[in-house]
Amino acid sequence: MESDWQQELTRLEGLHLRRSLQTLTSCKGPIIGLENGRSLINVASNDYLDFAQDPLLREAAQQAVGEHGVGSGSSRLICGTTGPHVALEEALAAFKGTETALTFSSGYAAAMGLGTAILDKGTVVLLDKLCHASLIDACRLSGATLRVFRHNDLEKLEALLAWARRKFPPSTEVVIVTESVFSMDGDCAPLAEMVALKERYSARMVVDEAHAIGVLGEGGRGLASKLGLTDRIEIHMGTMSKAIGVSGGYLAGSTALRDLLVNKARSFIYSTAPPPALAATATVALEHLQGPVGDNRRARLWALAEAMAAGLDLPVPQSAILPMLVGEASAALALAAQLREEGYFVPAIRYPTVARGQARLRFTVTAAHSHTQIDELVSAVLRCRQLAHEESS
Ligand SMILES: *Cc1c(COP(=O)(O)O)cnc(C)c1O
Repeated sequence: MESDWQQELTRLEGLHLRRSLQTLTSCKGPIIGLENGRSLINVASNDYLDFAQDPLLREAAQQAVGEHGVGSGSSRLICGTTGPHVALEEALAAFKGTETALTFSSGYAAAMGLGTAILDKGTVVLLDKLCHASLIDACRLSGATLRVFRHNDLEKLEALLAWARRKFPPSTEVVIVTESVFSMDGDCAPLAEMVALKERYSARMVVDEAHAIGVLGEGGRGLASKLGLTDRIEIHMGTMSKAIGVSGGYLAGSTALRDLLVNKARSFIYSTAPPPALAATATVALEHLQGPVGDNRRARLWALAEAMAAGLDLPVPQSAILPMLVGEASAALALAAQLREEGYFVPAIRYPTVARGQARLRFTVTAAHSHTQIDELVSAVLRCRQLAHEESS
């Protein structure tokens, strides 16, 4: 057994696909400390609005722990639902413009809940090829008939909708699953066109706004809100672990959706409720995210993202995620290692997170960065890229 495990690890190593954990010893704004005593500028975080370390939220969390303690002691359905959980769900529903919202211990758990409560063997799911692993796992877990369409390809999507309506009885539930901002490409789904197709074929739709919340739309409400589509999308999904800066996931929609999730989402039912103090902190974060603090940081974030994209000659950013395609996993790793020498922490994203031959550096800009840091980063990337180019030719 042990030797099989070792063999598999060696195989991954040979493919440049072995991963390992790295411990941060400190985190101050965009500067992270490593165990070897070095510090690097972090260009990998999803903490887009610099909320995770914010003094305002530290204070809110400390006060909430004082009031509610550290744990919840039970699942939500037994005796784990507290005032802060209900308040957060009301705040999320108001933020998203939906009737209700239900929180989970993570975005991953929210996706799993969807998989057991809303999708089943009788459902046909049409999934964008670049959707996050949590959505893929949820669809598989559900036993639904799953078809994947090429990323953002409306023609392929329509062909699949037509196929599903031809092949299955009219009462069959057909569900389109997409993200609004894609986590590894940083681009947006053509949501308006997708919603129109969905309606034409009487399907339903799940939109995961994990990377859009806090970044896109008025008050950071996301892409569906920005495009005025909220009421036409049945299931809104997101996480509180990115721009909101805390932890936990949510699903938002109608009262019937929430009630069904409470009854059938196994990741909700069979898991201890998130700490009430965490819920209280997320509620405060959500208020700041929609208010002047959020507005200022969003403006700063967009200015930085635009400067960085221009400096690296990348397309105009649609989010805070700026991928730079490299190609082979080994080349992406080498470039990331060089940038690390220069003082920057940026991950090389490889198969299976992205397709083979599409390895990339994934930069994320946050409101914690300064313009000088981004300018210097751009120079370093150009320098390292040039060096790699010279070495390979
Ligand atoms: C991060 C992410 C999730 C998972 O959220 P967690 O709260 O980190 O579990 C789900 N979907 C997408 C698109 C994500 O990027």
